[in-house]
Amino acid sequence: MADDHVRVTGVPTGLFIGGQWRAASGGATFAVRDPSTGEVLAEVADATPEDGTAALDAAAAAQESWAATPPRTRSDILRRAFDLALEHEDDLAALMTLEMGKPLAESRGEVTYGAEFLRWFSEEAVRIHGDYRTNPEGTGRGIVLRRPVGPVYAITPWNFPLAMATRKIGPALAAGCTVVLKPAELTPLTTLFLVELFRRAGLPDGVLNVVPALDAKGLSAPILADRRLRKLTFTGSTPVGSALLKQAADTVLKTSMELGGNAPLLVFDDADLDQAVEAAMQAKFRNVGEACTAANRFFVQEGIADAFTAALTAKVDAFRIGRGTEDGTTMGPLIDDRAVDKAAALVDDAVQRGARLVTGGERVDRPGTFYAPTVLDDVQPGSDILTTEIFGPVVSITRFATEEEGIRLANDTEYGLVAYAFTGDFRRGQRLAERLETGMLGLNTGVVSNAAFPFGGVKSSGLGREGSHEGIEEYLESVYVLTPDP
Ligand code: ADP
Repeated sequence: MADDHVRVTGVPTGLFIGGQWRAASGGATFAVRDPSTGEVLAEVADATPEDGTAALDAAAAAQESWAATPPRTRSDILRRAFDLALEHEDDLAALMTLEMGKPLAESRGEVTYGAEFLRWFSEEAVRIHGDYRTNPEGTGRGIVLRRPVGPVYAITPWNFPLAMATRKIGPALAAGCTVVLKPAELTPLTTLFLVELFRRAGLPDGVLNVVPALDAKGLSAPILADRRLRKLTFTGSTPVGSALLKQAADTVLKTSMELGGNAPLLVFDDADLDQAVEAAMQAKFRNVGEACTAANRFFVQEGIADAFTAALTAKVDAFRIGRGTEDGTTMGPLIDDRAVDKAAALVDDAVQRGARLVTGGERVDRPGTFYAPTVLDDVQPGSDILTTEIFGPVVSITRFATEEEGIRLANDTEYGLVAYAFTGDFRRGQRLAERLETGMLGLNTGVVSNAAFPFGGVKSSGLGREGSHEGIEEYLESVYVLTPDP
């Protein structure tokens, strides 16, 4: 760490391969920056494709013994990692805020949420069971075993640097799989510190390896082509997920994909207004809107629309923008210039097509990559904002008349990760649960993420589920043994 601007110390910045922290084979590093100032926080080792293969070598070498490690031992290590993550809540939260920008209170929330995957899967590790069956003819008996799928390659995004890693590492390790992890190049520090906590928790060498790299594609291609790899788990954008699925097809790799969203948020006339506004604020502005679960398209029924927009706008205007490390900040920067340009372009396009700008709609004049929280009303069909994942603090409101129209508008997207709906009518809620094309529905609530429930989407939002008992299934194979009639 030779740079003058380095302010993060005591956090590993190397590659972790086979239980050792080390430099990249070419000695190269890349800079990690604070999005609220643009300053360099640290230089991190830039893994080469050879380093990626070395990480897979280590994972493959450790696979057999890790799979044979008693479930209770695997469980205890995950539990120790959970305890260590909570002990280091302040460190993890500070790292996330520095490299990603969200206010410290939100980063602390991510530590609680992210660490929970370690506790949850430490509990699941000892509950992996097969069964014993009789065939319908009554002539044979089958024993079904559950076995770990094998070495896993996990690719994570920058928006939840801790939780997206634990949501994959937790179930993989619980199931008995070894892991090569590639964190997002924008936010590797949190992940590197997490991996160090696993080392301190007593994880055997080679079970978890981490390879940050600037050239994600160059690093990943040889790993994905290697037949020792048995599983790919990815969270990120739909175009990259789709490209990875094509690569995975070559070796018929088992895959889990958590991809983009375009969440509808429906507010019906019979909703509790205060509750709907409060929850909508969370659904939209958690993580500055940089979440695949962020409410992207608000559809508000005509009878409640004026009151809803007014109440929401009052809350939006109350945000305090600043560095996430400053006291009182309730909204930090976006991750980079590209994110600000995208939000600005979507707002401009919507306004040009007839939307009404209620508040915001501009960049914030200060260092760092900030965009003002924005509300658009009467967004018109054909606006880019209705088909694009905003990933920023922009509310797009369209009004609708009937339930049928609301459902049609909500389903008019290639995505299907999460939907939110606010109504006082339980039977309407049931109808929505059955008809909205979504993997998750927040009914009168604005946050669905929870380690105990299956997170995932339908349509172009992905394949597979993370969290809950379903989450561990993604890392297990069934092997069935037919035996004769006794
Ligand atoms: P975002 O747009 O949110 O940054 P991406 O899908 O680009 O989402 O990135 C998510 C993760 O995927 C990051 O870790 C990134 O480095 C990685 N990634 C991006 N492109 C590729 C690729 N072609 N192959 C493998 N990983 C990739």
